[in-house]
Order: sequence, then C-alpha cells, then structure tokens
Amino acid sequence: MATISANLQQVRERVTAACRRYGRDPGSVSLLAVSKTFGVDAVAQAHAAGQRAFGENYVQEGVEKIEAARRLGLTGLEWHCIGPLQSNKTRPVAEHFDWVHSVDRLKIAQRLSDQRPPGLAPLQVCIQVNIDGGANKSGVAPGEALALAQAVVALPRLRLRGLMCIPEPASDFDSARAVFARATDLFRALQAAGLRVDTLSMGMSDDLEAAIAAGSTMVRVGSAIFGRRSYPAGG
Ligand SMILES: *Cc1c(COP(=O)(O)O)cnc(C)c1O
Repeated sequence: MATISANLQQVRERVTAACRRYGRDPGSVSLLAVSKTFGVDAVAQAHAAGQRAFGENYVQEGVEKIEAARRLGLTGLEWHCIGPLQSNKTRPVAEHFDWVHSVDRLKIAQRLSDQRPPGLAPLQVCIQVNIDGGANKSGVAPGEALALAQAVVALPRLRLRGLMCIPEPASDFDSARAVFARATDLFRALQAAGLRVDTLSMGMSDDLEAAIAAGSTMVRVGSAIFGRRSYPAGG
C-alpha cells in the first residue's frame, strides 16, 4: 500500500505536470489535502511530508481533528471548512477554522463574521457557486455570486478570497474543462467588478487536471492522498 507521503508526492507531480502542460505557473496552484474521514495520524503523516493546508467537511469531526493536531504539537497548519454549512453550526467553524469555502448565502456569512473571535485573523472565505446548476446542490446560482460577494466584502470579520465549485463528474476532459471555465469567467467578472479575489477553489482527485487547465488556483484532493474513504463523505 502506498504511503501518504508517496501519494502526496504523486499528487504534487500531477499538479506540476498539469501546470506545465496548460501554461500555468506551478506556484499559482496550491494543494488542499482533504482529510475528512481520516484520523489525525493521517494528518500528522501528511504534515511530516510538508503538507500544511487541510480540508474538512464535517464541523464536529473537523474541530476534533484540529484540537487533536494541536495536542500533537503539529505547527503551521491551516484548516479549511469545505462542507455545506447550516446556520446552527457556524460558531465552531468561526472559532476553529482558518478558511471556509462553502459560503452560499448571506445569513451564513453574517453569522461567521459575528462569531469570529476578535483574537483571530479574519476568516478567509470563498463563495460556493452551483456552476452547473445541479438540482439539490449547495452553492449560489452564478447570476447571484457577484451580489453575494459584494455583501461578504462588507462584513468586518471575513476576508473574501474567491469562489469554490464542485461540478458533477464529467464524461470527458473537455466537458469537465468547459464547466470549470465557466467558474473562471465568473471569477474574472468579480475581479473586473473591483473585488480583490485571488482564489479559485476547484478540482479534486479525479478532475484536477481539467480544473488546472481552466484556471484553478487551489485543488482539493482527498482520496488520491489518503486513500479510499470508508464512509460516504459528501457532507
Ligand atoms: C471530499 C471532497 C473533496 C475531495 O474529493 P476526492 O475525490 O477524494 O479528492 C474535495 N472537495 C470537497 C468539497 C469534498 O467534499
């Protein structure tokens, strides 16, 4: 069985190869290791291999892991909440995470801003966009993303970083890339409207190359690093 360190190395090579192939600067795409369903021991192994940014879907599981990592003395970690958020679960997120990728309505953003403790840096946020209009999927409709982004920018304890999307798996590379490219267009529209956004969070284990080809600046990779999950983890 491949180790986490070897898997991480392979994923980094995939990211670099995709950047070379599609004319991107390899320094412009960062890697978020999605550790949901895996224990703090897996986080510690990835940390030993140089990984610092970790993504979690479930608030309770994430908070427990953040505290366990602190007890282990792991330093320099950055924790990203990437799962769907209910308004009654915002407080632990505001208190423990560094980033939230899944802001999709103003009420959630307001609560996160109100609940962010004064001693911590502003919470870094991405707005989740339902880029392919999938039914019962989280994310704001593309046409509403700019208005939500402008409202988030006005909140004192949040810092808007960009957009996140999770399109349905596509049948081939070109159609995956075309859907991701719509998110890139929206990201550029935010920039053109004067918002200083720098993060386009898209691409996972199976489609990170297409996401990078389309302009992703952060890929969120779970199973290619940690292995298969033993329970479903869509959030
Ligand atoms: C689980 C998850 C990932 C990682 O998925 P893999 O296919 O295991 O790489 C990325 N983003 C989100 C929002 C997820 O829930």
